[in-house]
Amino acid sequence: MSSELLENLKKRYLTIRNNGLTNVLKIQDETISAIRTFLKKEGFIEILAPIIGPATDPGIRGAKQVTINYYGVPFKLMSSMILYKQMIITSIPKVFALSPNIRLEPLETAKTRRHLTEFRQIDLEVAHATCKEVMELGERMLCHVIDEVKSRCQMELGERLKSLKTPQRPFKRYTYDEAIEILKNKGITIERDGEIPWDAEEALSRAHSEPFWITNYPMTARGFYYMEKEDNPAFLEDFDLIYPEGFGEAISGGQREHRYVKLVERMKKNGENISEYGWYLDMVRMGIPPSAGFGIGVERLTRFICGLENIWDAVPFPKIAGIPSP
Ligand code: ASP
Ligand code: MG
Repeated sequence: MSSELLENLKKRYLTIRNNGLTNVLKIQDETISAIRTFLKKEGFIEILAPIIGPATDPGIRGAKQVTINYYGVPFKLMSSMILYKQMIITSIPKVFALSPNIRLEPLETAKTRRHLTEFRQIDLEVAHATCKEVMELGERMLCHVIDEVKSRCQMELGERLKSLKTPQRPFKRYTYDEAIEILKNKGITIERDGEIPWDAEEALSRAHSEPFWITNYPMTARGFYYMEKEDNPAFLEDFDLIYPEGFGEAISGGQREHRYVKLVERMKKNGENISEYGWYLDMVRMGIPPSAGFGIGVERLTRFICGLENIWDAVPFPKIAGIPSP
């Protein structure tokens, strides 16, 4: 990152009044409204997201969680509200929240142009749903949002209005293994048991002009809460949606492990300290419904819709790894 850019980010509070954010933030506002309208029509109820709690999402790709001292008890800032989503669907079977998340990302993510350490996601969960059903929901939601924003923000989108196309449904689906093969054919070899690295994911994204799914990531790459594939437990019933044109990851989600014994087994395999999850495991032991859901990053969606090079131009007060900006 150039030192000029770094200074710019640190001094955002001085430049914000004339840096052209207005159009982007109007588009973001319409984007959020369009998602809310869409989900409410689909029968979802919006809840207020938790911000702190005794445990949070450990499946955050090498980012660190933040612990605070809550009256003498270590508490976490939410890295995602996944554990709470699994709980709340016992009373609200179709639920969503605009959830703020904190993830202390590794320093090198300052260069990916799509990582923030403070971000928001529309986090949703559906009781008794399968991966296939929530993926189909995600496709309809993205198409609806793009249609709405294109009709409401013609002036604000400017040049991007022409190149932003409503995608064709159904979106293409690759398994993780197929994605690894495509990368191999491009001369990019990656280990078959981990995440797809940022630059490889960007290369895949650049090779597409429409959003596409990658399903069934390896168990070793993801959080304990995704269900293992029945016919091949080394892989998961999960998915990411990848934006085209180099914009990279849009959505992560999957089917949840809701069976107490299996869940404890998975937590142990993932090296989790079971004692940190007391309340969560109590609820699971009492019985929670099977469910599936996903999270879609609001700033990344804004970046994609506006066609912005950098994620920090999709948020008024950006927080980037290693940069202590206000
Ligand atoms: N917890 C996931 C994430 O934040 C999203 C999900 O599986 O619902 O990446
Ligand atoms: Mg993800």
